Amino acid sequence: MLNFVIFGPPGAGKGTQSEKLIDKYQLIHISTGDLFRAHISNQTTLGQKVSALIADGQLVPDEITIAMLEEEVDKNPSAKGFIFDGFPRTVPQAIALDEFLESKGSSIAGVIALDVDQDELTKRIAERQKLTNRVDDQADKLQKRIEEYFSKTIHVLPYYEEQQKLSKVNGIGNIDDIFAELCAVIDKY
Ligand code: AMP
Repeated sequence: MLNFVIFGPPGAGKGTQSEKLIDKYQLIHISTGDLFRAHISNQTTLGQKVSALIADGQLVPDEITIAMLEEEVDKNPSAKGFIFDGFPRTVPQAIALDEFLESKGSSIAGVIALDVDQDELTKRIAERQKLTNRVDDQADKLQKRIEEYFSKTIHVLPYYEEQQKLSKVNGIGNIDDIFAELCAVIDKY
């Protein structure tokens, strides 16, 4: 299996680029944010448990998120590989993912971090809010998500840097140019 993590703050373009990558490389896209939103709209027990946290822009506890992620991977036993989007967001999640993949004789091949400055992120999310009306894209909730990113999620980067798996890509510019840069990274594997 060829597994990648696409990493970056809210609004970096992880979802957009993941869609293009799965098309080209026939990988399975797992977005924990999308999975949570599906649970919430289907009003599952899990959805009911996490909806207030997500609406508030807080991270869902690791054990819940990890269990959901592992279940999703297990639904795709014949996958060529996965693009993990929005996961891992904490170091314990990154460790759990490594252990889980190792138990399947697999691993993370590479981590691609999309680099986008704060002004551009705020602008993009304001645009997205008009289109999707996500409650957690509202200004105060967005602020909370950005704080969660800089207090917890950013520490995942050195974790992968130490494993020499991290590639940084400029996430500002034309979507196709950014995509070409991502492909150049993936094609090295
Ligand atoms: P996203 O669509 O990736 O921005 O995720 C939306 C929200 O889902 C986040 O703000 C968190 O509340 C929750 N979430 C998604 N992925 C994770 C994760 N890996 N760990 C904890 N919470 C998550």
